[in-house]
Amino acid sequence: MHKKNTVFLRTFGCQMNIRDSEVISGLLQKAGYRISATDQDADIIIFNTCSVRKHAEDRVWSLIGSYKGSKVIGLVGCMAQNYKEQAFQRDPHISFVVGPQDIHKLPVIIEKILGDNLFSDKNLLERKIWETAGDLRPEEIYHMDFYQDKNHAHVVISEGCSNFCSYCVVPYVRGALRHRKHKDILIEIREVIARGVTKVTLLGQNVNAYQDSQVNFTKLLEQVNALSGLKEFDFFTSHPKDAGVDFFKAIRDLEKLVKRLHLPLQSGSDKILKLMNRGYQAKDYLSLIDSYRKIVKSGRLTTDIIVGFPTETDAEFNQTYALVKKARFNAAYIFKYSSRPGTEAAKIIDPLKQAELEQRHRKILNLQRSISQELRSSQVDAKK
Ligand code: SF4
Repeated sequence: MHKKNTVFLRTFGCQMNIRDSEVISGLLQKAGYRISATDQDADIIIFNTCSVRKHAEDRVWSLIGSYKGSKVIGLVGCMAQNYKEQAFQRDPHISFVVGPQDIHKLPVIIEKILGDNLFSDKNLLERKIWETAGDLRPEEIYHMDFYQDKNHAHVVISEGCSNFCSYCVVPYVRGALRHRKHKDILIEIREVIARGVTKVTLLGQNVNAYQDSQVNFTKLLEQVNALSGLKEFDFFTSHPKDAGVDFFKAIRDLEKLVKRLHLPLQSGSDKILKLMNRGYQAKDYLSLIDSYRKIVKSGRLTTDIIVGFPTETDAEFNQTYALVKKARFNAAYIFKYSSRPGTEAAKIIDPLKQAELEQRHRKILNLQRSISQELRSSQVDAKK
């Protein structure tokens, strides 16, 4: 056992990756490694990566290149699953490639590499790492007692996604939707409460599709709300096609649950929503948020929008613009479409001119900024 080796983890992407990095840190610490806050004293650098946007991937390749083989480099997470053995061709300094479903194997993989010869260029590929795609990860990995924040813990309730939105790599890199057992989730939350945590965020790519035998997401929210010692909790992220009245009533009635909903819209055009494979139309979305606002009176509402999806015309962009104006979100994450190899959307050849993409992005960003500002000011006025 190489107890003295030091690992630095660099994390990119969503909350799920941040939580995965905590899990990896806990696993490696338990195996005798030291986790460092900087790369300077580390022998092993692990990049826990995101493939949702090309820009994030480019940054990782450039950072890996900057080490020029001076450290043992591991590519972990979504890029690992996406590039598989091509990662070794792309940068021969990479020593191991481990997809998100296989992070529990990291202590064994690293042990094997260090055993081979630290800093040798004899790269190891754990060739079976993709065979488990689709299985739930071992439950023990969620009980490694490693959380960055003393007061706030992120707890995974489901892994993967089966929605196959046409622009998204998540179902390919994280596998089909799998649910953790509700009893295990509650055990983990009790554990974090016992170590002093008072706030919990439940995590999944599509939390409101949660189902474990008779326990659906609304039931799970009720069970979490009932845990003594917990002061506040929330969840991230929901899908409109799985949202409904019971879910909104739970947000209203459960006193510890934060009165906030993040409900990604993506587009206000029915044609684009269909091409995106989102499973709803603009009118469904509007009636859903109308119902949310009637039930959760002062609840916050936030969303995600993608502009410049292939074949999006000016008229279709204007439908999104009009919907954002009507919906009056408290905040919105507005993304420029980024083509991801392997997805259905990447097969649609219609590159929008960059200038046009920038212009649409700016236009809707400005609209949302002014709406967010107005809503903030009206809340301040209401408090006076
Ligand atoms: S719901 Fe759609 S966008 Fe979200 S992770 Fe699943 S496939 Fe990707």
